Amino acid sequence: MGKSIIVAGLGHGGIAAAALLSKAGYDVTVYEKKSEGTLGYDWTDIFDPKALGVAEIPMPPEDKYEYKEDMTFCGPCGNNPLKQHVPLDAREIKMERRDIYNHLIENAVGCGVKIVYDCQVNGPILDGERVVGISTEKGDVLGDLVIDACGVNSPVRRNMPKSTGVQNEIDRAHKISIYRAFFNKASDEPTEDKFKVILFAGGKPGINWVAAEDEYTDVLIGRFTEFGIDEVNATLENLRKKNPRLGEERLRGGQFVEIPIRHTLSVPVADGYAAIGDSAFMPVPLIGSGMANAFKAAKILADTIIADKEDTYSAKTLWPYAVKYHKALSSGLAPLECVRSALLKLRPQDVEYCFESGIVNSDDITMSADFGSMGDLFAFDKDDIKKKIKGATGNKYLIKTLGGAVGKMVKVVVLSNQMPQEWDKAKVLDWAKKYDKAFM
Ligand SMILES: Cc1cc2nc3c(=O)[nH]c(=O)nc-3n(C[C@H](O)[C@H](O)[C@H](O)COP(=O)(O)OP(=O)(O)OC[C@H]3O[C@@H](n4cnc5c(N)ncnc54)[C@H](O)[C@@H]3O)c2cc1C
Repeated sequence: MGKSIIVAGLGHGGIAAAALLSKAGYDVTVYEKKSEGTLGYDWTDIFDPKALGVAEIPMPPEDKYEYKEDMTFCGPCGNNPLKQHVPLDAREIKMERRDIYNHLIENAVGCGVKIVYDCQVNGPILDGERVVGISTEKGDVLGDLVIDACGVNSPVRRNMPKSTGVQNEIDRAHKISIYRAFFNKASDEPTEDKFKVILFAGGKPGINWVAAEDEYTDVLIGRFTEFGIDEVNATLENLRKKNPRLGEERLRGGQFVEIPIRHTLSVPVADGYAAIGDSAFMPVPLIGSGMANAFKAAKILADTIIADKEDTYSAKTLWPYAVKYHKALSSGLAPLECVRSALLKLRPQDVEYCFESGIVNSDDITMSADFGSMGDLFAFDKDDIKKKIKGATGNKYLIKTLGGAVGKMVKVVVLSNQMPQEWDKAKVLDWAKKYDKAFM
């Protein structure tokens, strides 16, 4: 007890784990590059409120959130829209990102966590393969364990020695770039579908949404390749044709950001090191939701650390965190990476065809807040599978692409089940190599 734990970056999973550990008597300090009061984005986010309970974080005050409305999904032409029907008690909540952060920070500080703002982390300090601290712009800090919560481009993960098996870099195709902004309401015309998700809008591979709020219209444009403001403007023009409420004046937001959408790091631990949240690629591979997973991971990580009675924080004693998270979430979500890869190969007409032919139906897109595996998205009902196969027969290219994805998924599931349950470095690295390869 009383051992010093460093959290690099004030990521959601990191601050949640910090609170749990501080409550248990550890000396926890978070080092964050941004200034106090400036964390988060200038927009709202949606997540499963039950995940807060898992991480022992109280619900936020009721006036700070509302329940998310059902979404309507459609292909590039917007014909054959499919509406979700999520029961109220299984819905996610929608909250300002700043309010989420304020709530998490207040909880953590109340538990005794110390936060150093305006402090950029540059990388790990190593003694051989063991992480013994972090180097920051304000000087070196030593500790018994470093929890890496610096997000997708974490300088800690990126500078881990290759020999630890912690993957440093992420492929471009494994990140989605997002532009998000709130625009004025250009028309009072009522909209039947308040929250529309459009796949391949304007024929460009990606995901877009247009959500009609009372005072503004919320737009998200997601692409699997880099894009700039010219493409944003062209997409907005296109979206305005079918969404007259979408005005021209940007009221809030307007940033480009990245989310990892791939399987979780196969090896998220090393001696003195554990990655969490986006640093460990925890968001759902297809849709990029990562907060609930980060909170759930925080509880598993904190329990694993507390269970290490010798305070060794070695890869061996931290490995149960990887195993338990894999079992609880990442093994179920990883096959969605194969769906994402297949989606990237489709042409806009194939996506439209999926909606027209009934290959995708409203049950497929009705996921509850507690979305923890691919089975929560696709029901795998025998009759439904027969219908999907029948529907796909009219499009040979689609059959070939989806067939390839199913083959990959089978490999992924087989290898996922072979994850070593106990730390044996050679066995773990060998498994990780094969598992990562299965997604290629
Ligand atoms: C546009 C957008 C919309 C999203 N919407 C949702 C949503 O609706 N629901 C959902 O569940 N998820 C959503 N996500 C994903 C979600 O934000 C993340 O998965 C989740 O927050 C976990 O990420 P994180 O906290 O680990 O990392 P991040 O959110 O990236 O936080 C990392 C933290 O580390 C700090 N940091 C980074 N580098 C350094 C450094 N060198 N030194 C010190 N500090 C550093 C950052 O300033 C930041 O505070 C969205 C993401 C984006 C980009």
